[in-house]
Amino acid sequence: MTTLTLSAPAKINLFLDITGRRSDGYHTISGVMQSVSLGDTVTLTLTPVTEGETPRHTLTCTHPDLPTDGKNLALRAAKAFFETAGTGDTHLHIHIEKHIPAAAGMAGGSTDAAAVLKGLNELMGHPLTHGELCRVGLSLGADVPFCVTGGAQITEGVGEILTPCAPLPPCHLVVACAGEGVSTPAAYKKLDEMYGHFDGTAYLPKMDALSAQLEALKKGDLCEAGKNAYNIFESAVLPTHSKAGYIKNSLASSGAVFAMMSGSGPSVFGVFENEKDAQAAAEVLLSRDIPAWVCKPIGR
Ligand code: ATP
Repeated sequence: MTTLTLSAPAKINLFLDITGRRSDGYHTISGVMQSVSLGDTVTLTLTPVTEGETPRHTLTCTHPDLPTDGKNLALRAAKAFFETAGTGDTHLHIHIEKHIPAAAGMAGGSTDAAAVLKGLNELMGHPLTHGELCRVGLSLGADVPFCVTGGAQITEGVGEILTPCAPLPPCHLVVACAGEGVSTPAAYKKLDEMYGHFDGTAYLPKMDALSAQLEALKKGDLCEAGKNAYNIFESAVLPTHSKAGYIKNSLASSGAVFAMMSGSGPSVFGVFENEKDAQAAAEVLLSRDIPAWVCKPIGR
């Protein structure tokens, strides 16, 4: 029996815009993603298959509402890995200690999948390159290549074109999430209706703000990075998720340099210069029964 435990960090989007739609209907994006220290823990256990046995892939998860069958992205990642690397002659058990809020725009499923891909690759003696892991990851979800890579990255294409960029300068983050999860496809549908299906006439992506944010990150200027933070999903999600708007206002009133929804929401993060203010901002939300976590940006 061989066991490997990996951390599976969540991500936040410092910038997220839609640049168009591909002929297959997928939206193309342009933005900046940052890994954070809030994360799941994924443990992989391999047990040799004895003669006549068929390899079994099983999963347990501390979150009672998440699927433990083939619908779980972590099990789908294992299947895709074994099919690509051809090393599937083993039983596998995956245990996920869930800390990332589900369906919250923080890539919870994608990061578990990425941890499984990276972990299996390590346990099997690295049969796949980083690029191959990202390609397998992309077949599972647009955020998986970022989660395989981590750190701070400019994300383009459907999320698979990654270019490293300067990370958030040292700071403290409060991530909070209340109310019902958001379905990412439903949020895209709403944006399509709002912005003319991104046919290039009704909406102009905010590329100047993205360049300004990247420049600010390079200079380590948190305030300027915040002034240029943007998430197009806020316009679709905040009007119908009043708790996300409430959290954003609360974080701003607690002194956040900036606060914004992450991905398709409804999680919201606030960026603070010092830990004491971040803790106090989290306390305000916790006192109102809103789950909140203090964490930090992390590198690759
Ligand atoms: P993203 O930010 O990549 O759009 P998300 O953070 O909004 O993703 P997830 O937490 O990945 O959303 O959950 C989306 C759906 O995926 C949920 O409805 C959940 O049932 C399903 N899912 C499958 N596997 C997992 C997993 N390991 N962890 C979390 N959700 C999972």
